Amino acid sequence: MPDHAVRPASRNKAHVLVIEDSRSLSSILCHRFEHELGYQVTHCATVKSFEAAIATDVFDIAVVDLNLPDSYDGQVLDQVVALNVPAVVFTADFNRDMRERLLERGVADYLIKDNERAIDMVVESIDRILSNRNVGVLVVDDVASARAMLVDLLRVQKFQVYDAATGAEALTVLADNPHIELVITDYHMPDMNGYELTRRIRRQHHSDRLRIIGISSSSDRLLSASFLKAGANDFVYRPYVVEELQCRIQHNIETLSQLRQLRYAAFSDYLTGLRNRRYFFDEGPAQVASVRARAEPCSIAMLDIDHFKKLNDSYGHEVGDRVLKAVAGRLSVMLDGTGHMLARLGGEEFSVLLLGLDASAAAAFCESLREDIAQMRVALDDSELGVTVSIGVAEIAEHESFSNYLNAADQLLYMAKGLGRNRVYSENMLVSG
Ligand code: GH3
Ligand code: MG
Ligand code: MG
Repeated sequence: MPDHAVRPASRNKAHVLVIEDSRSLSSILCHRFEHELGYQVTHCATVKSFEAAIATDVFDIAVVDLNLPDSYDGQVLDQVVALNVPAVVFTADFNRDMRERLLERGVADYLIKDNERAIDMVVESIDRILSNRNVGVLVVDDVASARAMLVDLLRVQKFQVYDAATGAEALTVLADNPHIELVITDYHMPDMNGYELTRRIRRQHHSDRLRIIGISSSSDRLLSASFLKAGANDFVYRPYVVEELQCRIQHNIETLSQLRQLRYAAFSDYLTGLRNRRYFFDEGPAQVASVRARAEPCSIAMLDIDHFKKLNDSYGHEVGDRVLKAVAGRLSVMLDGTGHMLARLGGEEFSVLLLGLDASAAAAFCESLREDIAQMRVALDDSELGVTVSIGVAEIAEHESFSNYLNAADQLLYMAKGLGRNRVYSENMLVSG
């Protein structure tokens, strides 16, 4: 069952409420939220100003200091909780009783003002909880009360929570909700145990995209090993310590986010920000196969800046780079929303996989790219510069290797260059420029 309570808003537009009477702490926090993370921030140093703020604004999350000049003993926290705004408590006083009270009230996190990294930790915690709103987590347990405890723990962390009472139901929920990134599964279940469920999930979902945490009240110490060997990423025994489980969940979600960043960096071109050669060769063949399976046409274009070496020689490499970025920027604007796949293959060469276009439609499209670039001007210190491109376009008709298609487009590009540059050349000899 999906949790519709919180629809993820854009992270950048999140509105953070900082309730803190220390001038120095609040000004650092507000500055970091606004300038590092781009959030909208409202600061209150008293309950009075808090009440004024909530009368006019809606907040996505709050940092709450428990003691304010006009609020003792966390009265302001009760007010925040009553508004259903996730609270991150930032406090100097802390003990076991206080911990119990904070957990009872369902705070999203608490951090203690006892070390030099405390502010960093508050900022990280807020950022993490806000991004949890886009992350789906599935809880699988046949016992309703045990399931409900986990669901509550995850809702407090602002995840989009799904739950299932059987292994079979879990597999269906997972198939229907591709944004689920974490499955927390019990061991003993009537239709399929957690170990078997883990094995089945791993047949389709690799651990670099989906994490699994096993959980059980069994006293069998070998259970954790079985789960981990079946492909789970972590395991906890019941009864669990809430904060420990929360940390393990967050570590798994963070690992996925780091892997995403690595994948993104590995597939991006550093200078222009476009997709790179590796991405084009990795993703291209699958895209070609899927349009061909639908019996739709598909073409490939190779695009190369004309006389770029001369431009580098006359104006310097830095200007050359600026021109490359400008051409990449124009291409990406022109291709945005078309579904075609653009990449910088290297140097001043770009390629576009034109899905759904036969040779003549692709050549016409490339002609519009060529014209657009020819009209573009790149600003220099006291003048401006124009560039042209040549494009070779080949339709993908026969069943051949991806690099053969690219070679064909490259040959046609070579012919466009030979015919005088600033033109599109395709198999059916559409010559222009
Ligand atoms: P043609 O019109 O036939 O394509 O000639 P060209 O001069 O554009 O082609 P050539 O392949 O001879 O030269 C490409 C130049 O691009 C040589 C290389 O120094 C330059 N280049 C490659 N990568 C970069 C880069 O990242 N930045 C800059 N500024 N120049 C680059
Ligand atoms: Mg060139
Ligand atoms: Mg070249």
